[in-house]
Amino acid sequence: MTAVATPPKKALVSKPVHEQDERSAHLDFNRITDEQFQAAADHMKLEKEIQLLLRTPYRELVVQIPVRMDDGRLELFHGYRVQHNGVRGPYKGGIRYHPEVDLGEVRSLAGLMTWKTALVDLPFGGAKGGVSCDPGKLSRHELQSLTRGFTQKIDMALGVYRDIVAPDAGTNPQVMAWIMDEYGKKHGYTPAIVTGKPVALGGSLGREEATGRGVTMITAEACKAYGMNLRGAKVAIQGFGNVGSWTAKLIAELGAKVVAVSDVFGGIFRPEGLDIEKVFEHIKKTGSVVAMHGTQSIDNEQLLALDVDVLIPAALGGSIDRDNADNVKAKLIVEAANSPVTPRAEEKLNQRGIHIIPDILANAGGVTVSYFEWVQNLQQFHWSLEKVNEELQLRMLQAWKRVYERSTSGHAKLPLRTAAYCEALDKVAQATRHRF
Ligand code: NAD
Repeated sequence: MTAVATPPKKALVSKPVHEQDERSAHLDFNRITDEQFQAAADHMKLEKEIQLLLRTPYRELVVQIPVRMDDGRLELFHGYRVQHNGVRGPYKGGIRYHPEVDLGEVRSLAGLMTWKTALVDLPFGGAKGGVSCDPGKLSRHELQSLTRGFTQKIDMALGVYRDIVAPDAGTNPQVMAWIMDEYGKKHGYTPAIVTGKPVALGGSLGREEATGRGVTMITAEACKAYGMNLRGAKVAIQGFGNVGSWTAKLIAELGAKVVAVSDVFGGIFRPEGLDIEKVFEHIKKTGSVVAMHGTQSIDNEQLLALDVDVLIPAALGGSIDRDNADNVKAKLIVEAANSPVTPRAEEKLNQRGIHIIPDILANAGGVTVSYFEWVQNLQQFHWSLEKVNEELQLRMLQAWKRVYERSTSGHAKLPLRTAAYCEALDKVAQATRHRF
């Protein structure tokens, strides 16, 4: 979590309201993921009954969270936990803290978790949670009260073999530690109730960087498959939080030239490549990537339109839509964020032959190492960092291979997203048929 990340009013998700489908003040993410689901379900000729079961969430919890603020005021927050599908195992998914969180967005993200865990073959279902709040504006004390209050309100839906939470945008290992602590007050010491917690509390080595590491692994494989050389490739990354910053660091270590990065306040560009360690130092001093010495200032729209080989949206959903898709010059887009490319944008990008690695594949590294963390907690046995990274690599590359082969094996080439959904739907549908 970047505590300083307070979105300005007109952020990625707040675009002019003149068309309802892709330029609404609040994108309908549920409709976006529904459309992606449908494309795969139609392609597979999935039975209507199974479609209905798979697209309908099992359970949706909406809670109020009253918090006594530092100035004595009582503020009422709204929290959500959606358990989308549990046919393959306990529900699993992160908790997002952001002002624009609502039930529709959480529902959509919960569905993505079902497909993601199935795609990388983890014995989990899918869930997501969130609280509509601006973590950058809360004091540490308020954030802790909010987190403990939220945990109490969703407690009845959680469980080590029922529903396990994790970090997402706006939350971090500290928030996970408070959740574990609050849950433990009622149920006793239960580290496996939450993943992405600090290593000192039973977190896994390698979890913090896992999503970025997975993004890097998949980008490297995609470059090989599409005849691109990652070494020396120009890369632009939107969003410099957990996922974006780790991706920048790890992809630069593989020899890629990260020429631009951004956060909610704006971006920086250096055609010769940024020194990522210096970007970290700059953030430490100023709280943002903006205005780093020796770089050109750009905004988030300019970053998306840069002449780069690889574009990695790693902020929030809906950043590439039908209005700016034509500006994209990258040959490869890797969806590190969830739902950064809208369906209309995707059609345009597909027509131009731009490859898109879908979110459920690209950013599955986080939930994969969350699974390893859960396993370690249950076994009370810690893995080395080497083992975590080896197992992560194995899972990610297997998933990439299955998706890529499915996308290229038919008569007509299938978009990677549809191929990834088909892989995931196959698994969830099969488990569903056995149960009904
Ligand atoms: P984070 O809160 O750590 O960082 C978010 C970053 O995006 C920050 O740099 C913030 O300033 C920037 N940002 C926010 N609003 C923006 C805007 N309007 N324009 C440009 N930049 C903006 O979040 P994170 O954990 O890195 O998650 C980022 C994305 O990755 C989310 O879509 C999340 O769902 C997805 N994801 C995260 C994980 C994980 O393990 N953390 C796993 C899978 C997917």
